[in-house]
Amino acid sequence: MFIDPRSLIAFIVLFAIATLTGAQETSHPNTEILTAQQAIAELEQGNRRCVDGKSAHGHDAGRWRERFLVKQKPFAIVLGCSDSRVAPELLFDQGFGDLFVIRVAGNIVDDDVVGSIQYAVEHLDNKLIVVLGHQNCGAVTAALSSPDQARSEPQELSRLLDRIRLAIALVDREHESTQRLAEAVEANARASVKQLRNVPSIAKAIKEKGVEVVGAVYHIDSGKTTFLNE
Ligand SMILES: [Zn+2]
Repeated sequence: MFIDPRSLIAFIVLFAIATLTGAQETSHPNTEILTAQQAIAELEQGNRRCVDGKSAHGHDAGRWRERFLVKQKPFAIVLGCSDSRVAPELLFDQGFGDLFVIRVAGNIVDDDVVGSIQYAVEHLDNKLIVVLGHQNCGAVTAALSSPDQARSEPQELSRLLDRIRLAIALVDREHESTQRLAEAVEANARASVKQLRNVPSIAKAIKEKGVEVVGAVYHIDSGKTTFLNE
């Protein structure tokens, strides 16, 4: 069989381009349900790429939008803070369709947050729920201030701060301010983890479907995210 050398060269060039662009398109195949531990590994690898300045920037590829036009298949749920410096997709270097994200100041848990997480657990079959606190959280800082000061805020904001204040009640106020804030951020993330684990439908999913709820803290100075031990 005769093959035109020009066609062969064109084929090789096109194949090389497809391979190269494909490699940059995504860090994650997004075709199978990941276990909680596999999902943590994906997030850790993505965070490492971000810290090393080697982000794959999957979110830049327009083809991702077409792929998820009708259906989404995220591999992890992230409950994070609204803080503009703490975008989960960027700090975990993930693209469109990878993460189911709920963001609220101070990554607190309320009924609507629980409802959103329940949707992703029940209908998207997610196995991992990450509560992501972060260094220098303004909401936690405000909750550490005196209750009188916090009460001067609008009613709804004041209520949000009350939730955080409950979560950080055991933090030692005598500690130096930076350490105290870091301890409060961690305690606040752990409190949200505990609250979520106690939601009956999530407790059932933990027992029967292998769902895990874990806490993590993002460090703005280093870019690193640390998953919290039990
Ligand atoms: Zn925050």
